[in-house]
Amino acid sequence: MNVLVTNDDGIFSEGLKLLAEALGELGRVVVVAPDREQSASGHSLTLHRPLRIRQVREHWYAVDGTPTDCVNLAVQGLLKEEPPDVVASGINVGLNLGNDVTYSGTVSATFEARLQKLPAIAFSQEVAEGCSFERAADFARRLLATLIDDGLPSDLHLNVNFPAGPYRGVRLGKLARRYYRQTVVAKTDPRGRTYYWIGGEPEWEEEPGTDQAALSQGYVSITPLHLDLTDYAGLERYRHLAGRLAPSPAAAE
Ligand code: MN
Repeated sequence: MNVLVTNDDGIFSEGLKLLAEALGELGRVVVVAPDREQSASGHSLTLHRPLRIRQVREHWYAVDGTPTDCVNLAVQGLLKEEPPDVVASGINVGLNLGNDVTYSGTVSATFEARLQKLPAIAFSQEVAEGCSFERAADFARRLLATLIDDGLPSDLHLNVNFPAGPYRGVRLGKLARRYYRQTVVAKTDPRGRTYYWIGGEPEWEEEPGTDQAALSQGYVSITPLHLDLTDYAGLERYRHLAGRLAPSPAAAE
């Protein structure tokens, strides 16, 4: 079993180290991770400048790019001869729940893995009193071992979040929906120009059966993901547009 481990917190993150060590009990681990913090980089791909890979120790590589770059360089470059059987991303410092997965570099690394047709799992840890990245890493090892027992589905794509305290169990849940409240603060710099900070705590729509609900009740949350963003109901709802926007007779000539 070849395991590629990456993250978005950077190659020196403790969560990355613990995940790599834990999954190393199941197979050969290669770490390819950003050389610095890349949180909230989303599914960003670097195309406008060259990328460099620096080996930091055996089987550990730092890339001056995003998590998506790391998965690309690993699968299409470094590990081309011996491609990974599974990609694990994390363990992120902080949760990646609900709509936030679209911002998350941690989860986007698994989007990229799926585009490369590899099974993938993202891991994120709530940071608050009682949190333990060791406990999360141990769960990650047990989860992957269980999935390998089940034959490791080729289209595996999971988003896993850990509550801060000891977990009460495991719940499968759908992505929660986030409200967007006041998250932009405007200030003035010493030269009198306005600058902005984007921030604030997420607020969630209260809904049972979500990843956020599971987390808030002390459960490890697992959300199966897929990359198909199609609104299937919309295929019917907007079908009339095709007729109404047919080329005019003049344009068709
Ligand atoms: Mn992060």
